Amino acid sequence: MICYDYINDYIRSTIKKSDAMLKNMEEYAKKNNVPIVHPEVARFLTVLGRIKKPKYILEIGTAIGYSAIVMSEFLQSDGRIDTIEKDENVLKKASENIKSLGLSNTINLMHGDAEIVLDKIDAKYDMVFIDASKGHYMDFLKKSLGKLNQDAIIVSDNVLYKGMVANDELIIKRKKTIVKRLREYLDFICNNKLLDTSIIPIGDGVAVSYYRKHK
Ligand code: SAM
Repeated sequence: MICYDYINDYIRSTIKKSDAMLKNMEEYAKKNNVPIVHPEVARFLTVLGRIKKPKYILEIGTAIGYSAIVMSEFLQSDGRIDTIEKDENVLKKASENIKSLGLSNTINLMHGDAEIVLDKIDAKYDMVFIDASKGHYMDFLKKSLGKLNQDAIIVSDNVLYKGMVANDELIIKRKKTIVKRLREYLDFICNNKLLDTSIIPIGDGVAVSYYRKHK
């Protein structure tokens, strides 16, 4: 957590209750130690998505399909979410969850390492959600940039990584490389002339980038 507990608790107390299926998935994730988006980040994605109204979404890091299902709620009716996951076990669970909601035609599960799968994708997206290995965000982004429609948004989760990215004193030795890479990533998305980026201190830190009009 990067905010004071009382702030998080208060924000969470304002969030509407999840429907039964999402609630089950939240409980499953907690019980089985599967990382999924924090509730306030799920809410943020929903509001952002309702404003943006994307037709095609690319997600990097599916886990059990929780955030993909959240995003399917604001997707245009004939749209599609392509979501990439390298772990076959969680992907099986995602497939079950997605099937049980009748979303198999909307959420397209892609198995493999995103760095390899991304090279094979020939599609354009209105929104990209990056939520996989934090040390590789730069690679994911660079491989996604050529697949963006004009005015696309990129949401990157966990960019403040327990506060370590913002404060050297918090850095755990074995996380040094990830923190360094996340700082480089933030520097890139905050200073790239094609992107306008804002970093928001909710959950574990979320960066939202707007892909500007090509000059
Ligand atoms: N977005 C999901 C949600 O909120 O419901 C949570 C994703 S979880 C934080 C990160 C997932 O990314 C893990 O399931 C992990 O196996 C996957 N992952 C990590 N590195 C990856 C890579 N290089 N390619 C594909 N998947 C990857």
